[in-house]
Amino acid sequence: MGDQRTETLSEYMIRVRRDIHRHPETAWTEYRTTALVARELEKWGYQVLLAEEVLDLESRSALPAAGQLELAEMRAREEGVDPELMQRMAGGKTGVVGILKRSEGPVAALRVDMDALEVTESAGPDHRPAQQGFASCHEGICHACGHDVHTAVGLGVARILAEDQSWQGTVKLIFQPGEEGMRGARAMMERGIVDDVHDFFSLHVGIRALETGEIVTGCDGFLATSKLDAVFHGATAHAGICPQEGKSALLAAAASCIGMQGIPRHGDGSSRINIGGISAGGNSRNVVPDYGIVKFETRGGSTEINRYMEAEARRICEGAALMYGVSVEVRNMGSAEGSDSDGELMQVIRAAAERSGGVHKIVEKKSFDACEDVTYFMNRVRSNGGKAAVMMLGSRLAAGHHSGSFDIDEKCMEIGAEVLSRAIRMRLEEETRQKS
Ligand SMILES: [Zn+2]
Ligand SMILES: [Zn+2]
Repeated sequence: MGDQRTETLSEYMIRVRRDIHRHPETAWTEYRTTALVARELEKWGYQVLLAEEVLDLESRSALPAAGQLELAEMRAREEGVDPELMQRMAGGKTGVVGILKRSEGPVAALRVDMDALEVTESAGPDHRPAQQGFASCHEGICHACGHDVHTAVGLGVARILAEDQSWQGTVKLIFQPGEEGMRGARAMMERGIVDDVHDFFSLHVGIRALETGEIVTGCDGFLATSKLDAVFHGATAHAGICPQEGKSALLAAAASCIGMQGIPRHGDGSSRINIGGISAGGNSRNVVPDYGIVKFETRGGSTEINRYMEAEARRICEGAALMYGVSVEVRNMGSAEGSDSDGELMQVIRAAAERSGGVHKIVEKKSFDACEDVTYFMNRVRSNGGKAAVMMLGSRLAAGHHSGSFDIDEKCMEIGAEVLSRAIRMRLEEETRQKS
């Protein structure tokens, strides 16, 4: 017989995290990660939902081109993903939800994200994943935001709650695709994944909490954002013989950029706009260019302010198109709403953290001051009368988020799983008591 020793929770999460870290996948191509999570959830006795069961397909933002999806699917097959599962997920249907129902009554959820970034991982001697042989084997992609850690914590919570027979109610564990670029949450929310959820938890590692053993019980100040592509179509013409027949998409695109930077700021709170890129025309200097694309984003201190920024930006793109006689289509490439964490759930996280080993610093609240599409889930749960909170899991970092040298302290994972599973149990107990 082989080694019969059961893996400790910490060993389990480190193994899972390193496996995911070594095989990172970007938005809508998280095939291997989804399959891994599904297999683990099944092992712990969860009902597993996948593909159309967890996604409103029309609400997926910025799906990669078909060719890109096929390449990622091929890679996942080569890496051993079950062909039947692959078939179900093909075409960018990633993401998975695990449900453990013990009784009718309260439903609590934990959401984690699973996607990686188009960042090349450091191969330097002081970068631990490289040193210890679990650095990314997918060229140009790596987990530089800690979503591998979130996924491992989600599975740690799955295991703790499965092994503990003391609680009643239902737990939903949501493994979301495509958080980077704000592309995935809305599709799951629109599918109704959190419609029955009363208590909603989520986390991020190493943001506003930079010590291992530190917990921030909630964040407010999630900015609302829209990621947009303005695509201009004009008409080509010979620039010498009949320029009057040409309609320049390049000039319209350029005018839209200047116009959008001039949107008046909103008096009710913060707002931002950034033009990230413009490309137009081709290589021929004697042709009136018929194509242009402007990639930009708006942000707002509240959903309303961002809505104002987006509406103004769209109006200006249309105005620029009109000015040059071309057409424009402004495409939504990703979005998030504004939101805050609820004090009631933050109290529960505090109480859970106080009882958890390894926690030595508890901070009540910090301002996130960035965007996260978790806000779609939070606001949906709230609109149904529920509560939501996003906990910041403290960890020492080797380098900042989205850098190729980003790395966390793996000790934080056990702390995160312990605090979150305890918070979920406490909340379910409280509500089961209230109802009976
Ligand atoms: Zn990120
Ligand atoms: Zn992140």
